[in-house]
Amino acid sequence: NNYQNVALVVGVTGIVGNSLAEILPLSDTPGGPWKVYGVARRPQPTWNADHPIHYIQCDVTDPNQTRDKLSKLSDITHIFYVTWTNKPTELENCDSNGRMLKNVLEAVIPHAPNLQHVCLQTGLKHYIGSFEFLGKVRPHETPFHEDLPRLVTPNFYYTQEDILMAEVEKKEGLTWSVHRPGLIFGFSPYSLMNVISGLCAYAAMCKHEDKPLKFLGTRAAWDSSWDASDADLIAEHQIWAAVDPNAKNQAFNCSNGDIVKWKHMWKVLAEQFDVEYEEFEDDDGDGDSRLRLVEEMKDKSEVWDEIVRQNGLVPTKFEDVGCWWFVVAYFGYSETEKIVSMNKSKEHGFVGFRNLKTSFIYWIDKLKANKIVP
Ligand code: NAD
Repeated sequence: NNYQNVALVVGVTGIVGNSLAEILPLSDTPGGPWKVYGVARRPQPTWNADHPIHYIQCDVTDPNQTRDKLSKLSDITHIFYVTWTNKPTELENCDSNGRMLKNVLEAVIPHAPNLQHVCLQTGLKHYIGSFEFLGKVRPHETPFHEDLPRLVTPNFYYTQEDILMAEVEKKEGLTWSVHRPGLIFGFSPYSLMNVISGLCAYAAMCKHEDKPLKFLGTRAAWDSSWDASDADLIAEHQIWAAVDPNAKNQAFNCSNGDIVKWKHMWKVLAEQFDVEYEEFEDDDGDGDSRLRLVEEMKDKSEVWDEIVRQNGLVPTKFEDVGCWWFVVAYFGYSETEKIVSMNKSKEHGFVGFRNLKTSFIYWIDKLKANKIVP
C-alpha cells in the first residue's frame, strides 16, 4: 500500500497519545501518509474510536502479551512512547516504568526491519525531581535547559533514558529523541494527570452546587509565572523529531513558550463555566485549602453522576476526570517558577508554540464538545 511511515503509539488513549492518534493520520502531517497502530490497556473508548488507527489492547507491563501482540507488527517505522505507571515510591517507578519500556522495545526492535526512530516522552521532573522527592532534593534553577546534569536522586525518567540508549544501540542506524513537556493541557479523560479535566470537573461541581470557584493553591501559586505544554504541540514536536534529521539522538524541552499567572487565569476558568469566582484570600494561604479539596471531593462521586445525567454527558468516573491528587499536587508544584528554555528546539528547527490562554480554552471546549464536562 502507499503508506510512507508506520507509527506505533504506546499509550494511545492518553493525554498526548490521543493527540498523536488525531494528528498522525492527517493528510498534511510531516512524514505522511502514516499508518498508525495505537496501544492502550483498556478497550478502545468511544471518544478515541473516530481516529483512523489500528487499536491494539495490550498491557505492556506483561512481557509475554507485549511480545505476542507487538512483535508481529513488522512494518513499524517509528515508536512514540507516551505512557507510564505511577507507583508509591520512585524506586518502584523506576522498576515498573523501566520494564514497560523495555518490554515494548524488546518486542519491536528485533522484528521491525524498517524501524528508524523512537520518541520517548518524559517531563520537567527531570530537572526538579520526582513527585516523591519534590521539595526534598534541590531542583535546578530556572530556566531549565536540556544539558543540565541529572539530579542525584532516583527518577524513572533517567532509568527510561538509559534503557532507551542501550536498546537503540542494538540496531544499526536506529535513532531516538526524548521530549520533556511541563504541565500538559490536553483532552484525555483516561489520563493519570489531566489538570484541565480536573479543573473543569471542579468548576462544574461549584456551578452545580451554586458555590463560588475558590482558588485551591497558595499565595505563591497565585502570584508566580508558569508555562504549560499543549498536547497537540507535543505531538507536533515528536513528529518533527521523528522525521527531521536535525533532531536525532537529542533530548528536547517542549513547552508552549508563553507565561501566565493564576491571578489572571482563574477568571478565565470561571467564565467557561459561568460561575462566580473568588480571588486568592490569605486565610487559606498555607496550602490547607488544597488538602480540604481532596477531603471534600472524596464524597462527590454521586454528585458527579447526577451532573453527568442532567447534562447528557459520556459516563465517566469522577476520580478519572477529576484526578484530584494531581490538581492538588500541581498547585503546590506551581509555587515557584518552572520556566523552561525552548532555545534548543528552535535552534534545531522547531519553532512551534501556543498562546497559553487560547490553549487552555481550546481544551476546555474540546472536553465540552465531547460531552465529558458540562
Ligand atoms: P497518560 O496518563 O495521559 O496516558 C497513558 C496512556 O498509557 C493511556 O492511554 C493508558 O491507557 C496507557 N497505559 C497505561 N498503562 C498501560 C499499560 N500497562 N499497557 C498499555 N497501555 C497503558 O500519559 P502522559 O501523562 O502522557 O504520560 C506520559 C509521560 O509524560 C509520563 O512520563 C509523564 O510523567 C509525563 N508527563 C505528563 C504530564 C501531564 O501533565 N500529564 C506532564 C509532564 C510530563
